[in-house]
Amino acid sequence: MLPMSATNDVTPGFQFASDNTAGICPEAWQALEQANTGFTPGYGEDTYTQRAADLIRDLFETDCEVFFTFNGTAANSLILATLCRSYHSAVCSSVAHVETDECGGPEFFAHGIKLLTADHQQGLIIPDEVTRIATQRTDIHYPKTRALTITQPTELGTVYSLDELKTLCDTAKQHDLLIHMDGARFANALVSLDRTPAEMTWKRGVDVLSLGSTKLGSPVGDAVVFFNRDLADEFDYRCKQAGQLASKMRFLAAPWVGLYQSGAYRTHAAHANAMAKQLAENLQSLGLEIAYPTHVNAVFVHMPQPLVDALHARGWHFYGFIGGAQRLMCSWATTPQHIDALTADIQQALA
Ligand SMILES: *Cc1c(COP(=O)(O)O)cnc(C)c1O
Repeated sequence: MLPMSATNDVTPGFQFASDNTAGICPEAWQALEQANTGFTPGYGEDTYTQRAADLIRDLFETDCEVFFTFNGTAANSLILATLCRSYHSAVCSSVAHVETDECGGPEFFAHGIKLLTADHQQGLIIPDEVTRIATQRTDIHYPKTRALTITQPTELGTVYSLDELKTLCDTAKQHDLLIHMDGARFANALVSLDRTPAEMTWKRGVDVLSLGSTKLGSPVGDAVVFFNRDLADEFDYRCKQAGQLASKMRFLAAPWVGLYQSGAYRTHAAHANAMAKQLAENLQSLGLEIAYPTHVNAVFVHMPQPLVDALHARGWHFYGFIGGAQRLMCSWATTPQHIDALTADIQQALA
């Protein structure tokens, strides 16, 4: 079978609904096909898993501990369950995926932890909020604050600069909080900032990262990357108990090899970001107001309801429940033709 490629079909559909509506990128597909030969040990004892973990260690320029889970919710939940005991709390932004889109996964896997939501500015946690939350109560009756979880890029498509990350991480460390980064779209932030993965994570003080791959172009599988190796103790048991240890692990690992060995992770992330930038420019030139800076592959735009209705009626799918604006996502598979088609329909609907 031929690798899936980006299609230029511009019939209105799910092109902008999310970055998980796209198929599997060619590099991940080819890697899967290559892995689909012969017999290998199961449960991650194979050479593909070894290679994928080594590529992630090379990427971050450090000897981190790497695990693979089926998705990001599992990665985030199991990490927070590792950082926190049942009577602990973790600070996150009020728009954090762990808070709004994981169905209580972190609280469930951590047996009762509480997420404490911090105010944010355009998705970015305000550092003073970390201090406020970490110090507001120190008595026995309140869940002890133990961790900070930061999403990079944020759910609102913005990116923390290295300075902002440093301030946030330093503040967390002052209050003895362990630091988790939700990097469901880490590669998009990486190419946007143009700094090294190490600078964006452990060099700022991040202890553990959820490294996403699905939205970048792989079929399934996120990575858990422990920079603080002590915290990784027995994490393999946690994965297994939670149903997150893939039996045929090579097929979770192979797409990582395809994406990271070739550098395709960068190309795809940069492409998705560029498409979003173009879309944002088009929308602005049509007089629409962009709600948050377009740092990565998400465009948040204020649209009058009649416009939303007209676009939905034409068959375009997109959501308005995140961040108080309409969200349009681009991916590795978005083409300039898709952007043109949507732009033309918006122009027509506005006319
Ligand atoms: C998509 C996403 C995740 C992971 O979601 P899954 O559907 O569980 O893979 C985690 N965090 C953020 C910010 C996301 O956008």
